[in-house]
Amino acid sequence: MRKEIIVLRLGHRPERDKRITTHVGLTARAFGANGMLLASDDQKITDNIEEMTSRWGGDFYVRNNVEMTKEIKKWQAEGGKVCHLSMYGINLPDAVSDLKKQSRLMIIVGAEKVPGEIYELADWNVAVGNQPHSEVAALAVTMDRIAEADPLTAPFENAELTVVPTAKGKKVIHDDELKEKNKTAH
Ligand code: SAM
Repeated sequence: MRKEIIVLRLGHRPERDKRITTHVGLTARAFGANGMLLASDDQKITDNIEEMTSRWGGDFYVRNNVEMTKEIKKWQAEGGKVCHLSMYGINLPDAVSDLKKQSRLMIIVGAEKVPGEIYELADWNVAVGNQPHSEVAALAVTMDRIAEADPLTAPFENAELTVVPTAKGKKVIHDDELKEKNKTAH
């Protein structure tokens, strides 16, 4: 059974965090999360990420304007566990074996100061090293360390666009070319 991982993005300020929150969502998707919950109202973020998903494949979703405490408590009541990423937490290598055992995991990342309540509600407060850096970096490293299979080689179903890795330049196959190729191969 595929693990269920969702990312809860806190503290997004529409006037200044658009790019970084979009990157949180795209990183969550690229490294194998099922979806992202945005605890702020910025429908454009949802639209942008879902538009990317429709072109690049998979079934990643975004839910806009969720109520953070309600979502955390609901997730836990349904048997899910919660890992809040914070530079003040226990270091990831000391938490990774517990995190890997979870079949339903919510990963929380902040933007500005995260409310104290989140530290209390989380099942783990986990640092990706105890130095300040970025929610995007913290999420990517965590997703990579807890993955069962290498997330860098995971396929994305129903993609309109697929990159063909090349040593130089850019090669992208469009869905219709791929279908044509598969037809001639059979
Ligand atoms: N100063 C803020 C605070 O004390 O909550 C954190 C701001 S930081 C730019 C934004 C987010 O990046 C944090 O909420 C956390 O999720 C993540 N982050 C930054 N450094 C981290 C680290 N070393 N380990 C884990 N997460 C980190």
